[in-house]
Order: sequence, then structure tokens, then C-alpha cells
Amino acid sequence: MNPLRICFVSSEVAPFAKTGGLADVSAALPGFLARAGHDVRVFMPLYGSIDQGRDDFKPVHGLTDIQVDMAGRQVAGSVYETVTAPDGAPLYLLDCPEYYHREALYGSDPDEHQRFAMFCRATIESCQRLQWRPDIVHCNDWHTALIPLYLRTLYAWDQLFNDSRTVLTIHNVAYQGVFKAGIIGDLGMAGHEKMFHREDLAADRINFLRTGILYADAITTVSETYAREIQTPEYGMGMEDTLKSRGGSVVGIVNGVDCSIWSPEHDPNIVRNFSAGDLDGKRINRDQLLMELGLSPEPGGPVLGIVSRLASQKGFDLMFGILPEILAGNDVRLVVLGSGAKSYESYFATLQLEFPGKVCFYRGFNARLAHRIEAGSDIFLMPSRFEPCGLNQMYSMRYGTVPLVRKTGGLADTVKMWNPDDNSGTGFVFDHYDADNFRWALQSAMNAFSDRDGWRRLMQNGMAQDYSWDTQGRHYLNLYSRLLSGRPVR
Ligand code: ADP
Repeated sequence: MNPLRICFVSSEVAPFAKTGGLADVSAALPGFLARAGHDVRVFMPLYGSIDQGRDDFKPVHGLTDIQVDMAGRQVAGSVYETVTAPDGAPLYLLDCPEYYHREALYGSDPDEHQRFAMFCRATIESCQRLQWRPDIVHCNDWHTALIPLYLRTLYAWDQLFNDSRTVLTIHNVAYQGVFKAGIIGDLGMAGHEKMFHREDLAADRINFLRTGILYADAITTVSETYAREIQTPEYGMGMEDTLKSRGGSVVGIVNGVDCSIWSPEHDPNIVRNFSAGDLDGKRINRDQLLMELGLSPEPGGPVLGIVSRLASQKGFDLMFGILPEILAGNDVRLVVLGSGAKSYESYFATLQLEFPGKVCFYRGFNARLAHRIEAGSDIFLMPSRFEPCGLNQMYSMRYGTVPLVRKTGGLADTVKMWNPDDNSGTGFVFDHYDADNFRWALQSAMNAFSDRDGWRRLMQNGMAQDYSWDTQGRHYLNLYSRLLSGRPVR
């Protein structure tokens, strides 16, 4: 395959700015593409939370003082360059303090739409200034979803983009970027109103994600099951009809795992490295985790782990009645890392008080602890209501931590139910979103845990799975090549 020019646009890229899996993908997929010989450049905002003084941030010649018309005034931005990782891809950070120096990456300030419209337009204008002709413009989630429309309207005059094809990857259809229709002028789109979805306009709103779905040349999402699910009313969050109208262009590709970061063999965050052939280190990580978090040592039952945004999507409602019951009746431990909705935070805080020595709730975001929980737990709980892909279940398997998941989205595509009769499977899977099913799965996992040989085999099955980007990234290259040669994408 000839080297491609790929403009990869994302609102978060690990480790610079991360709230979830999007950041991991936005670092790892471009890294794979760069190593495969492609000219990939990643664009993201330079948030205030990123250390501005890093001496590896170099201003990009020609990309200072980019002026974009935003809400009737000129807003200036400049681009700094670094790399996503030492062997990664070039990363272009858009510096525009008035928009990106805020308390959090995302918010609800009245100019939220401008922040990301600016990002979209400054990315396009950067390509123009560099006279860099992308073959593929790969957008991610609603924050970048206006780019396909901009290229067909405000920038349609520029032949630079004549042969460019756009891809929109939906990492989570629940987040759409919905604003009052009155902001169309702010976006520079006055006169192009009819390009927006008619029913949205009639309801006095515009929807960034829907706009991207309408105008991107191909739409991908992060697992095959989720690609089907979001074309149904149950999971589509109102996007199902628009997605169905593009049905032939919607492709599911499961995310990969960045093995340079998530491998028990050489993870610097854990106390002892280990592998499928040498699982002794796993026990040491488990002991250490319990000690560090002040939990009672050497439980007879498993250590249950959770690392998650505390959002209703993740299935915590199912745990409400079940966890106290399990904790009261068994010699188990529960370690929870996360923050988010107050109701879940207070649930886990109360559980910790009720079961001292058995439960630890660490409220916040802590990358190192996330690695230590993956390494030190026996069972990882992910009973999501919906899950586009999910990364933690794949990280868990790599660390010999057995995932317990609901059969939805990427969880359905990556975890197979353990069958002790033929020693097949990688985890515990339940179907319907209800508490009894969750209890059944958890009880099954705990029973299986008491069979040491079977459990070892189950851990090793998971550790043998290959979800590396070297494998998954090829599916994206295949998609790009189909798009560029005018073949159907599925
Ligand atoms: P989502 O993108 O829906 O949040 P994923 O499973 O796809 O879920 O990705 C979550 C990513 O964020 C993983 O890398 C996970 O380890 C990380 N993560 C989530 N919450 C925390 C936290 N509180 N501290 C550290 N890492 C976290």
C-alpha cells in the first residue's frame, strides 16, 4: 500500500488529555499508522491542563496566528508540535487559551460549540497553510464531526481537499453535541442552514454528531455488535434512523490494545512483572494492592476490581443490591477506582464504610492505580448497560484478570463465556440487563474461582487473546483503501 496522508482529529489523546477510551485509541491507532509508514498527523486542542512549558512542544512554522471567524469575530490560534509517544505519530496541539484553558476538557459554558467548531476549522486551515493534502481526514466523536460538512461548504472551494475522504468514528453515540439552532451563525454556517438535519432544525436544535453521520464518507464505530445496536431504537439514542440511512457506510472495528502500555510483562506501574507462563507475579501484585489500599490480606475468595467512569452506562445500578449480599456472605475484596455521578460515588463510599477491610473506593482518576488494579484483581466487573467497545475488559484479559461483562457492544465481541467442560472461554457473560443475571454471573465466577486449575486455564485463555493494534489497525487501513478506490466500505 502506498503511504497515505492521514489527518487524525480528536478532542483527547493519551497521555496528554484523557477522560476515557477515546484518548487511548487516539494515541495508539495513529502510532500504528505511523509505524506502518503513513504520514499521519494527529490534531488536538492544547488544554490548560497540559503542561504548557514542555520543551518538546515546538511552534509549527506557518501555523502561528491562524485567524478563524467565530461568532462574528476573529479568534486566533497557533499550533505546537510534539509526538504522541517516542515511537508514535506527530501531534499538533491547537493553542487557543480563551477556548481551551478551562477547568475540564468538556463543559457546559455557553460557547462550548465554538470551542470545538474552532478546533475543526483550525485543523482544516492548518492543512491549507501547510499545503498538506490529506487522503483521509479521520474525525472522532461529535467534537470533530463538523469537519465533513465544513469541507463540503466553507472549504469546498479549495482543491486541496478534492481527493480527501472523511471518516467519522463514533466512540459513544450517547454524546452528540446538541445545541440551539441559533448557533449556526457562530459556526460560520449562516446561509447553509439547509445542510443541517431538517427535523433537528424544526425542533430548534442542531446536532454535531448527526451532522457528521450525514456527511462523512464512512462512519465507523468501535465494535461490530455496537455498529448493529446503534441502528436500533434501544441503543441508537435518536441516531438510529440517520445511521440506517447510511447503513452501507457504517462499519464496526473493535479497538486494539496499546501493548506498549498494557502488558504485564513490562508494565512499570506494577510491583512485579508476570506473564501467562509465570503467574507468580500476579499473586504478588494482588497482595501489594490489598496492602496499599488498606484491605485485609489473603482473602479466600477473589479480589473484584472496577476502573470506570461512574456513569449509568456502566451498569452500576445492577450492583446496588447484589454487592452488599456478596460482600456479607463471602471472603472477597472489592476495589473501585472512578469518579462521576454523585449517586454512584456515594454508593461506593457507603459500601466502603459498611465493609471495612473488604472494600476500597478510590474516588478520582489515577492511571497508575488503574494498572495496579488490572494486575492485582481476579475478576473485573463491567456489567454495562451499553458499551461501544470497552477497553478495560481487554486490558483485564491481558493481565490474567477475568472479565465479568454483559453481552453488549464490544463486550459481546471480545469476551466469551467460560465453559469448564472443554476449558474454552475467557470470562463470564450475561445477557439481560437485570440484577438477577448479574448475580448469576458473579456467583458463577466465584464458584469457578475455587477450582484453581480451571481458573488458571481461564486466565491463560484471556492472556492469549490478540487485540493488538497491529491486528486491529489493519482494518482501518483496509477501510481507507476502499474509500480511496471508490469501493464499498463493507
Ligand atoms: P469509556 O471510554 O467509556 O470511559 P473504556 O473502557 O473504553 O471506557 O476506556 C476507559 C479508559 O479510561 C481505560 O483506559 C481506563 O483504564 C481509563 N479509566 C477510566 N476511569 C479511570 C480512572 N478513574 N482512573 C484511571 N483510568 C481510568
